[in-house]
Amino acid sequence: MSEHMSPEEFRRNGHAAIDWIADYWASLDDLPVRSPVAPGDVRRMLPPAAPEDAEPFDALLADLDRVVVPGLTHWQHPRFFAYFPANSSPAAILGDLLSSGIGAQGMIWATSPAVTEVEQAVLDWFGEALGLPAAFRSDGPGGGVIQDTASTATFTALLAALHRASGGEARASGVGGGRWRVYGSTQAHSSLVKAAVMAGLGEQAVRVVDVDPATQAVDVEALRSAVAEDVAGGLRPLMVHVAAGSTSTGAMDDIAAVAEVAGTADMWVHVDAAWAGVAAVCPELRGHLAGVEAADSFVTNPHKWLLTTFDCSTFWVRDRTALTGALSILPEYLRNAATESGEVVDYRDWHPQLGRRFRALKLWAVLRTYGLSGLREHVRSGVALAQHVAGLVAADERFEMVTEPSLSLVVFRLVAGDEETMAAMEAVNASGEAYLSHTTVRGRAAIRLAVGSWRTTQADVDRAWRALQEAAAVHG
Ligand SMILES: *Cc1c(COP(=O)(O)O)cnc(C)c1O
Repeated sequence: MSEHMSPEEFRRNGHAAIDWIADYWASLDDLPVRSPVAPGDVRRMLPPAAPEDAEPFDALLADLDRVVVPGLTHWQHPRFFAYFPANSSPAAILGDLLSSGIGAQGMIWATSPAVTEVEQAVLDWFGEALGLPAAFRSDGPGGGVIQDTASTATFTALLAALHRASGGEARASGVGGGRWRVYGSTQAHSSLVKAAVMAGLGEQAVRVVDVDPATQAVDVEALRSAVAEDVAGGLRPLMVHVAAGSTSTGAMDDIAAVAEVAGTADMWVHVDAAWAGVAAVCPELRGHLAGVEAADSFVTNPHKWLLTTFDCSTFWVRDRTALTGALSILPEYLRNAATESGEVVDYRDWHPQLGRRFRALKLWAVLRTYGLSGLREHVRSGVALAQHVAGLVAADERFEMVTEPSLSLVVFRLVAGDEETMAAMEAVNASGEAYLSHTTVRGRAAIRLAVGSWRTTQADVDRAWRALQEAAAVHG
């Protein structure tokens, strides 16, 4: 007997695994959204070593129920409103499963041409659906690539910017002595500082620029002064990070105005629309991307709001030679005629790692199974639910909005104060009824309620709101 599953066993276990997922979803409504376990609880239920002898696959499924589910915070729960959604829709899951079944390595075109060419087509389609400039298309000097995360995309953008600004010097001899500067607002995602650290520029290379207190968008005049001051001081502006939907409050920087400042110092403009970018599938929800024509790179995550199982971060550049110049490596064992012909794209040159999965399959599955019209409906329903929440906040004098609702994100607090706000949120989270997260805005505590899960209805939002009202009655 083979140690591998037979084709018949694979079919049977595969069906059981899909059944398990469908049953798991059906059970979610009755489970606490946030896992109640304490540190070590899960580990204690696992044996100290791997089994010496083979076990039936059913034993694994049984342990999912017994060991894993209690230790999960249920991101697909209809009342998961914390952070941002990480939607894993049925279509995306099947696309991902097919990718696993194919099991191809798409590191270069020649190792599986379809992996590269489907990805290029899907990114051209998706970029067009978002209204991105034609310069980002793969048939021009730019192109798109799927990265694991927006953090990697931002890191990659920084490496490309460094390559361009240093004329290749950074790649040859390192970044030492460059006295580089990278700019982002106080609301820029933490992955910007991490990128600077990973690129060897150091945290000090990141100059943090103030925001407008009301909108939390970058203060463009403060950016202008910072850049001018740095240039006068002999520093070299390298890249500016533009938040098109900040993580904390969904704040939207003015891309065109930032790009104008960047132009005065020949800086790379990276637009980080990790969460909010996908809303642009709706033409009426594209205002925050005005000016994106001036961007050198753009990232958005279908793996947040847009129904595509993590990980799927779509990243485009205007000029791919900066990227490939920074990252291409051609060891002898990967030499091949297609690469040498210059007619193909080898995605290994577009990101830090070599190996890559056929991630385009799940995005392809989502685009085809929902259609752009279905995706628009999903995005619009999230925005409508957020408006509904804003209405609930306005109608209860114990609560107040902290910033204007941004797409599907609502940020509010208890009028009573910071402690009361945090206590009310913690009470809701501990009850398991819903899961919310917090932030600070202008130095004060605030609750974030991010809608956008594929399983959330207005009844779920109302139930979360009732839990908040009950908590406010105690803590307000
Ligand atoms: C979520 C988020 C990120 C990080 O996304 P990852 O894909 O997890 O790296 C970056 N920027 C913004 C604005 C985000 O909302």
